[in-house]
Order: sequence, then C-alpha cells, then structure tokens
Amino acid sequence: MDTLYCACCGRPFLRASSRGPAPLYCSRDCRLQIAVRRRAWTALENASARHAEPPAEPTVIHWSRAAGGRRALGQRA
Ligand SMILES: [Zn+2]
Repeated sequence: MDTLYCACCGRPFLRASSRGPAPLYCSRDCRLQIAVRRRAWTALENASARHAEPPAEPTVIHWSRAAGGRRALGQRA
C-alpha cells in the first residue's frame, strides 16, 4: 500500500484502495476543512481585489515626487 500525505494536516496515511484517483486527504474532516478554507480564500481574494485599486494612486504621487526631487538635485549640481 502506498503511503500518502494529507494535503490538509500533512499526516501520512495509507491509501485504502489502489483504484481511482489518489486521495488527497486522510479523512473526510480534512476534505471539509480544505473546502471551508478554499471558500474563505476565495472570499479574501475577492475582497483584496476590490481593495487593491485605491492604494495605487498614492504610489504614483510618491514616484512623481521622488523624480522631482532628483531633478532638483541635478539642477543644483
Ligand atoms: Zn488530514
């Protein structure tokens, strides 16, 4: 029998049968855990995607200010 490692808790477990695709999780609990986590990750990704756009503006302002400062230094030299 193959020894597999659970994709959820990382515990080694024995594959019960060699038929069908190899199981990823040691138990149904772990499969449920991942399903819950995946749902949470998807929700987080959607939330961060919605929040990712506003901070882009201050970065542009910061960069143009940095370029202006460098230009002022160049004129002085
Ligand atoms: Zn597990």
